[in-house]
Order: sequence, then C-alpha cells, then structure tokens
Amino acid sequence: MSDASSRLRELPQISVLLADDRLVPLLAGRRKQWLTRLIQGVVADLRAELKKAKGPVSSREQLLNIAVERVVNKKDTLEKKSWTRVLNGTGVVVHTNLGRSCFPPAAADAARTVALHNSDLEFDLPSGTRGHRGRQVEEKAALLAGAEDALIVNNNAAAVWLAVRHLSRGGRVVLSRGEVVAIGGSFRMHEILAETGCTLVEIGTTNRTSLEDYRAEMIPGTTVLKVHRSNFTVEGFTEDVTVAELAALCQVEGCPLVYDAGSGAFFPYEEVGLPAGETLLIEDVATGADLVTCSGDKLLGGCQAGVIYGSAAEVAKLRKHPMRRAFRVDKTTLAALDEILTAYLREEGRPAIPTLDQLALGLDELAGKAQGLLDELAATAPTGWSGQVVPGQSSVGGGTFSSTSIESRLLMWTGPKAELERCHQWLRLGDPALVGRMNQEGLAVDVRTIAEAEMELVVQAFRLAWEKMSSGTDSNGRSA
Ligand SMILES: *Cc1c(COP(=O)(O)O)cnc(C)c1O
Repeated sequence: MSDASSRLRELPQISVLLADDRLVPLLAGRRKQWLTRLIQGVVADLRAELKKAKGPVSSREQLLNIAVERVVNKKDTLEKKSWTRVLNGTGVVVHTNLGRSCFPPAAADAARTVALHNSDLEFDLPSGTRGHRGRQVEEKAALLAGAEDALIVNNNAAAVWLAVRHLSRGGRVVLSRGEVVAIGGSFRMHEILAETGCTLVEIGTTNRTSLEDYRAEMIPGTTVLKVHRSNFTVEGFTEDVTVAELAALCQVEGCPLVYDAGSGAFFPYEEVGLPAGETLLIEDVATGADLVTCSGDKLLGGCQAGVIYGSAAEVAKLRKHPMRRAFRVDKTTLAALDEILTAYLREEGRPAIPTLDQLALGLDELAGKAQGLLDELAATAPTGWSGQVVPGQSSVGGGTFSSTSIESRLLMWTGPKAELERCHQWLRLGDPALVGRMNQEGLAVDVRTIAEAEMELVVQAFRLAWEKMSSGTDSNGRSA
C-alpha cells in the first residue's frame, strides 16, 4: 500500500465526528447544518494535508483529536466578531490594509443614528412624498468642489467605471501608457475599462506622452481618460500633459474628458507643512474635464465612497444610468459623508477630521506623545531593552503624495531582535491589536497615527505583550 493511502486510511469519517462525545453537544438545533459543513471542510483539509505528509503516520485517534480540536476552535472563532480594532503605530495615515481614514466621531454618531433608527433617506418630510436619496449630501460635495453637481457612488473604482461607461458608451477610450495604473491589489485600470465595453487606445509611452499623441487619436466618438498617478512617480526623461491642457484640446476636438483625480483633497495640505504636489479637488474640477472622480476615504478623510463631479446636465444623466443603483451607497455612508462634508463647509478642519489632524501634527506634539509613552513604559521594559524617542518618517498612504514622507517622532525599542519580533507578534494578537514597524534598528511605534485617546491603550498593549513574553507561552498558545 502506498504511503499516502496508509495515511488516509486513518482519517476519521464524518459520521464518526458527528457522533463524537465532544461534538454532539454542539450540534443541537439548526446549528447542526452549518457545523456539519464545517466538519466536512475540516476533514477535506486534513485529507489534503495527509496526501502531502511525510514522516511517521498518525494514528486514527490522533487524527480524530486533531479534527475535533480544529472544529471546536473554528466554531469558537466563527461565533465571535471577525474583526479586531487596531492601534496604528505604522505612521501610514491612510493605511488601506488598516481601513484607510478614521471617521470623525460626529460622522460615526450620525451613521449609528441612521443605522438604529428610521430617517428621511428617500422621503420629503414637508410634502410627505417620496424624496431624493442623498441629494443634499451631493449638493454639499458639489459646492465644496466648485462643480455644478455631484453623484455619490460606492467607491472611486465604481465612479471611474460609471463615468467612462456613460461618456464612451462602448466606444474608443484614449489613455496614456503612463497612466495604465494598478492601485492596490484589485484596481487595474485596463481591466476596469475593459468591463465598460470600451475599446482602449493606449497612447504615448510609459515615461512620455505629448499633447500631439492625444490629438492624433481624437477622432469622433473618442473619450479621453486621464488618471492621477497616485502611488508612483515617473522621474528622469519625462513628458506629460496637464489636465487643463488636455481639457482645452478635448474642447476643440469635441471629445469628452474623464479625470480620475484619485484622492480628492478639500484641504490645502501645504498649510500644515506637506509638500506641494497634490492638487485640490476644486482645482481638478476647474480644469474643465467633463467628469472628475475621486475617493471618499483618502485625503478627504471620510468613508468608503466615490464621487463623480460634473455639469448639472451630465450628472443628471448619470443619475438615471441603469447601473447607478448597483453602485449606490448605504444610508450609513450617506450620513457619515454628510457629517464630514458639513465639517468642511464649516471649516472645522483640525481636530474634527482625524486624517487631516494626523497629517497636521507638528514635531513638538509628536515628540511629546512619544516621550509620554516612553515615560509610562521605560520602567517596566524587559531587561536588555532600551527605549528612545527618535526621528522617523510617516507617510500619507492611500496612494497619495507617493514620493513624500513626513518627518515624525517614533518610540523606538532596541534589544534582542528575536524578543522584539516576539513582542510585535504579541502586540498584533492583542485586542485592540497594535501594529508597529520592525526595522533594522528595532521595534518602532510612530505616534502620528495613534490618537491621543489611544495612548493609554498603547501602554496597556505593551505591558500585556511583555507579560505574555515572560510567562513563557508563545503566541500560538504553546508552552515555550
Ligand atoms: C485610490 C484610487 C482609485 C481607487 O479608489 P477606491 O475608492 O479605492 O475605489 C482609483 N484611481 C486612483 C487614481 C486612485 O488613487
């Protein structure tokens, strides 16, 4: 008999697991349905592992115990919430993997209120008749951006798709080869465009595209797309066309222009010390592009959403687009966005909008925060560890200010590398978890992205991690 089949012979059967004393009490009522599927999955995984296994063959009893343990653990995990709050010690302000911008508290309150209660989402209270969903939020966005009107959709990917689909109607779409971008893992511009049914016409080269390249392809029935490069820069022998130059040419040639502005900032970040480079949404809209799209949770500092800005006539047509409903946002998103845009209208700025607040933190404030953490923690740090407040670099993240880092202050722990790594893992397994930065020098917490109200939680997180390390269990719960 082959090695694999002798291993597989010992694999417990589903019926044996369903009758196991340790699992029977869990299988009461309708839970039996999903738990049976879970057991099937565990056995299938185990079978796949056994086929590849080497070394001594496990006994039937060992395999049964493993399967039962996995089922119980998986069941326990599934019956708890599937997310963990994170204290962001990375210094990346708009961190896509950690949920991008944090809501202003007022926006979170608004989302909670409309989630818990009924509201006039699509109801006109004075007349008692059907109302327009989100129109006042869109009016606020349009006024801030200097556009005639705006349409709110699920995210910028949806905004780009809808804008291009609407203007090109399956015709030719011209895009510079330097702007066939990928944003994050799943937004690849040419793939999104293919799904609009258009024919993509790539022009120019990766590093150089001229106004002539565009002009040559502007035959009737062509839509032009310009995309903000967001997460990378092109340096050296380059040539590019500004949105305004392109808009002027499109006007002459009678071709509509869509501009994917990416971040869509309402706040001039130079005012708080960031380098010039990112344009303001109001400038993007003023370029004369027919439709301008952006995200709601990047430099705007709001929630996941996309906004399409344009003329009243064009946005009215977009509103009637058959796919619009597929991209519409939830009432909680509208309520949160309403609150954020209101904060911009009132010019509340810092500290109302956390993203802006974090980006605006000065070095003195940052050093004070880092020193505060060190003062709380220094006395209880493991032997052989040393803590210091050191200069470091934060970044904006979210594919904005791609080549820019902002000077910051970090709490830096140095000591035995393996211990620092073990500590970082324990920190990540806490609740809230703390995600910092491990580098050559040590384990760092960039305090820019830690809110004032979270400082005590950071202190507790370190104390707990150090306790776990000294208690001799490793982070998988085994005794070291
Ligand atoms: C971030 C980004 C997108 C995707 O935006 P989402 O809101 O995440 O869908 C598209 N285009 C550009 C230029 C971006 O920077």
